[in-house]
Amino acid sequence: MRLKWGAIVKIKILVLALTLIFAQSVYAKDAPSSWQPELKIGVMFNLKNATILTNSDCFFIAKDKKVRIKKGEVLAITFNASHVEIKGNKFEGELWEIRPDDPRKLKDLVFRINGKSYRGGLRLIRKGNAMTAINVIPSEEYLRGVVPEEMPPLWAKEALKAQTVAARTFALKNRHRHKKDGYDLCTSVHCQVYSGQAKEHENSDAAIRETYGEVLFAMPNGPIIDTPFHTDSGGMTENNEALWGVGIPYLRAAKELEEKTKPWDKEIPLFEFEKKVGLKDIKKIELSKLEFGKRTKDRTVSGRVKQVLVASEKQSKFLTGAELRNLFNLSSTLFDMELSSKSVKFSGYGIGHGVGLSQWGAKAFAENGMNYKDILVHYYKKTFIKKLY
Ligand SMILES: [Zn+2]
Repeated sequence: MRLKWGAIVKIKILVLALTLIFAQSVYAKDAPSSWQPELKIGVMFNLKNATILTNSDCFFIAKDKKVRIKKGEVLAITFNASHVEIKGNKFEGELWEIRPDDPRKLKDLVFRINGKSYRGGLRLIRKGNAMTAINVIPSEEYLRGVVPEEMPPLWAKEALKAQTVAARTFALKNRHRHKKDGYDLCTSVHCQVYSGQAKEHENSDAAIRETYGEVLFAMPNGPIIDTPFHTDSGGMTENNEALWGVGIPYLRAAKELEEKTKPWDKEIPLFEFEKKVGLKDIKKIELSKLEFGKRTKDRTVSGRVKQVLVASEKQSKFLTGAELRNLFNLSSTLFDMELSSKSVKFSGYGIGHGVGLSQWGAKAFAENGMNYKDILVHYYKKTFIKKLY
């Protein structure tokens, strides 16, 4: 029997209504820990062997086999050219997983691999003639291992919350950074520092809970924004285009509560300086004096070094602030330089690239009574929070 269009539409509406009612009741029961994006974090590389145990019953899943793992059972996995081996049993394929049968239980699973503990599940993939271990983890559980690495958990609560939203936004924005390697994000400063369960702390956990699912946007229907952050701006953050790319409207230079924070200096013997910059018998270094928030021909809007002229009697060359920072491993590009007969002395402020949120700056604002939303808008201009889940 063929149904008429009107009847089909009615059935569709009924199904939709039932789906919504069901979804809402599931959400109400599980809230706020319902659906979260899953992240794949590359945690260990070049593994030939792995010893694994889990805190609850789950499964070891290969291409065509699924084996139950008991809570606390020690699994010794050995990698071979075409398969992995567990207790003499061979599991072929390119990808093997340890996870619960019900995806909702993933957030409660903890596994230990070669002595390190992670929340969520484990994926092992073949990479050349070894395995890469990937932690498959709901985004909020992942943050529990990131926030305390990025900001000391004893810092002011509103600073921790601002850091949490910046870290969550960064993770979701950069999900495909390591796609070619088979995962989303790595565990170093290249992405965000993540150490699994080891550094978790109740204060950062609370900041994560209180900002659950909150992510930064610049336009109502626009993409998730980029949220670079750094340790300390030294007194003023920087327009992004001074360091990379074209100008982004929300990554503008912003003043801090205090100037001249995190002072540092570094003296380089002249012979070493000459060798590294590739110029002999240096007689002159030309760089205007640092003034915060003053753009000059050789400094950016915040006062960071754009370029320096280095000259001998016969030759001269320009070096950028970023080049000098790399060559001499300087804390920032916010510095003055002084040439003497024996050395070149750098004296500067701040730690890091200076774009986006300054962690020490956020701490100062939080201690001064500013809430995390205002801190975020201070460093990421005219952005707003949207609760993604
Ligand atoms: Zn990375």
